[in-house]
Amino acid sequence: MKFKEKCSSFRKKSNISKILDERIKKLPNNEIVAKDILKDLGNTHTNIVYDDSIEDSFFIYLDDTLYLSKKADKDNNYSRILQVSHECRHTMQLGIFQVLNFISSKIEVIVFIINILLFCFNWLSKKSVFIYLVTIGISVFFNLLIEIDAILSSIKIAKKYLKHKLKNEEAEEVLAVYKFKTKVLLPFYIIRILFSKIIRLLIVLFIFFSLYS
Ligand SMILES: [Zn+2]
Repeated sequence: MKFKEKCSSFRKKSNISKILDERIKKLPNNEIVAKDILKDLGNTHTNIVYDDSIEDSFFIYLDDTLYLSKKADKDNNYSRILQVSHECRHTMQLGIFQVLNFISSKIEVIVFIINILLFCFNWLSKKSVFIYLVTIGISVFFNLLIEIDAILSSIKIAKKYLKHKLKNEEAEEVLAVYKFKTKVLLPFYIIRILFSKIIRLLIVLFIFFSLYS
């Protein structure tokens, strides 16, 4: 596939997007796709909730449930197989990383709130800001660890699924676009997942420098 064609896949109405949308439309809905992928991954324990009220698909480790958006099927976007593969990968990641990600992100928010309260009462110290920086560093580390693994693994998972369901040539075309879009969008995706943390970090740094510079 030519570079120009891959670039035009970003436009919903481009020819390549329409062709790929039609191709993926013929595949089963996201719930069945997820069941097939989980079976292939040897996962027999994760529950699936497939509902209209779910905006974006996600996985919750603590109740071992994959929440899939029914809307994503209705939107019929060819990238849905990659998204389902991404969430299925989360179900297979080591529990310890999922738990550490969950706990560190909660602690980060709590330490942020404590810093804001300390600032309000004029008690903010360099030490408390330093503790916040350590906390957010650990939280970003675990967050990126599980997300980057899911992003990279999702291509391999989607490849196996698509090669099984489509003609080899058709699957290769879809995969070429998946790989291209993942490469281009990776930095934006990372900013999106870390967005709230970035905002909190900027607030703490702003307060710190306004007090100590
Ligand atoms: Zn993810």
